[in-house]
Amino acid sequence: MNCSLCNNVINGKYYADYWNNKVCAYHIEEGHATHCSSCGAITAKEYQLEDGRVLCKICNRNSVTHLSQIRGLIRRVKKSLVDVGFDNFQIDDINISLLTAEELAIKRNTNRPDTNNKGLTLSNVSNSIGGLLLRNKQKCTHNIFILHRLTKVEFAGVLAHEFLHAWQIKNSISLEAPKCEGLCNMGSFLLFSTLSSSLSSYYIKNLFDNPDPVYGGGFRYVHALYEEVGWEGVINKALKNNL
Ligand SMILES: [Zn+2]
Ligand SMILES: [Zn+2]
Ligand SMILES: [Zn+2]
Repeated sequence: MNCSLCNNVINGKYYADYWNNKVCAYHIEEGHATHCSSCGAITAKEYQLEDGRVLCKICNRNSVTHLSQIRGLIRRVKKSLVDVGFDNFQIDDINISLLTAEELAIKRNTNRPDTNNKGLTLSNVSNSIGGLLLRNKQKCTHNIFILHRLTKVEFAGVLAHEFLHAWQIKNSISLEAPKCEGLCNMGSFLLFSTLSSSLSSYYIKNLFDNPDPVYGGGFRYVHALYEEVGWEGVINKALKNNL
């Protein structure tokens, strides 16, 4: 068995990652290697971002730095959601920006940047007088902010999650936090299942394994419901605030 970092035959203790790479224990214990923040592969600390994330060579090369790289992917995310039954929300009314962890923290009104928070949706809902009289058409504008330097697959998952926050607000849906975040994570699950990428299985595993009661517990709850009633059932229940 050879070490995937130094290529030497591994003697004794070693570490393995999700991708079945094995490395001599000392690379990690002496701090020269760690898990890639995007794909979990054990990697030398070659590409370290200023927010503390470490990327492997492949994720560093494929990470999203400009929106111009992913216009097609944004349309694909929306189409995947519409294809399973979410109404055709106007993607053009939603502003999408890539931000650093620090900029995201400012948007969240905190001074603690946290790269586990990869997306944020801020919405403005205003009722025009005419709209109120007609009892319809509240005007919503949404700004979606996404952490920069995610892989394209990860970006698609985060964007789908945030789109479903915007969708819930647009439809005046108000769910308790685990159901709200669980439904949004179903959007990520949908994209990971739709995009053919070797990374998808890793991200899907992370969704299921997430120990957080809101994000992980909520996702497992909504996913179990989806297994029973499908997307149509999940969407109808959400629209009735009865998920
Ligand atoms: Zn080694
Ligand atoms: Zn990676
Ligand atoms: Zn969320």
